Amino acid sequence: MRILVTGGAGFLGSHLCDRLLADGHEVVAIDNFFTGRKSNLAHLAANPRFELVRHDIIDHFKFEVDQIYNLACPASPPHYQYNPIKTIKTSILGAINCLGLAKRVRARVFQASTSEVYGDPHVHPQPESYWGHVNPIGRRSCYDEGKRCAETLFFDYHREHQVDIRVVRIFNTYGPRMLADDGRVVSNFIVQALKGSPLTIYGDGSQTRSFCYVDDLIEGFVRLMNQTVTVGPVNLGNPGEFTMLELAQHVLKLTKSKSKIVHHPLPPDDPKQRRPDITLAKKALKWQPKIPLDEGLKRTIAYFKTQV
Ligand code: NAD
Ligand code: UDP
Repeated sequence: MRILVTGGAGFLGSHLCDRLLADGHEVVAIDNFFTGRKSNLAHLAANPRFELVRHDIIDHFKFEVDQIYNLACPASPPHYQYNPIKTIKTSILGAINCLGLAKRVRARVFQASTSEVYGDPHVHPQPESYWGHVNPIGRRSCYDEGKRCAETLFFDYHREHQVDIRVVRIFNTYGPRMLADDGRVVSNFIVQALKGSPLTIYGDGSQTRSFCYVDDLIEGFVRLMNQTVTVGPVNLGNPGEFTMLELAQHVLKLTKSKSKIVHHPLPPDDPKQRRPDITLAKKALKWQPKIPLDEGLKRTIAYFKTQV
């Protein structure tokens, strides 16, 4: 197949391009390089089945493709809050452009949604049927509400125009090719530990997240895209749940770092807890994550040792 990946130069997008090429497809990646890098795809430059195009998805685009994976959007809170209006435009106009293209060329189209649609959840763990608890006017809203509206657009195009959609809700995912200065917790802690600088825990560190290693997630993407049991939304993530204090301790142990832990103020609207209910993914996709936190952290630490 010929497959379009928006946000292809980013962390998840570049791993997805690798996987799709390894499966024998042709891949066109488009990216505006806001948080993505050409270096994430440099190893593919000589591959005749791969093409990288500089383009912003808020502007119209046309490609003759069989499938579209829409991943373009900054994912780290400091990056998506840097220009919140641009973040909303990317989510909403980007979704409309992907859906319009999918409608025109009859491509299947995949939306990278997020566990952020559940906000600061009152139901734990979060099943897909939970509608969430989201602040519509806060600092995280540009991302959370942008992604929620993108989901609405996907389901409206599906109902109104029979566009063939797939929607995944991704829970915190980590691995090689995250930016060292990305601001997300796993990359922050690893880089801080490797540099011997203090690990910055926001708040008291009792808030929880569930961390999925990138290879497990990409396997889930491909399974969701290529089955017909469900259009989604489907949660993909690792149900192992850790406090930020526990994560810091794992990173310190695995890096053998002597860094201290310091506490910084908790950002506003920071969700208190998050863990996916992956019953649907297990049933419909026969998918569940295989890589435990310490193994994934070891691989990620090995990558960051080459970067810092
Ligand atoms: P990332 O920031 O590494 O990748 C995003 C990519 O999109 C970058 O290459 C960036 O340059 C590109 N981009 C941003 N705005 C664009 C625009 N307007 N036009 C074209 N390209 C644009 O983040 P990631 O972790 O790889 O996330 C990929 C997708 O998965 C995002 O949609 C994100 O919301 C979603 N997601 C990721 C996670 C996670 O834990 N990694 C969790 C939930 C959802
Ligand atoms: N966090 C932290 N220290 C950091 C970066 C983040 O304690 O250096 C916390 C953050 O407040 C949140 C959790 O780690 O509670 C996960 O943050 P991240 O930005 O990775 O993802 P998200 O909040 O979007 O789930």
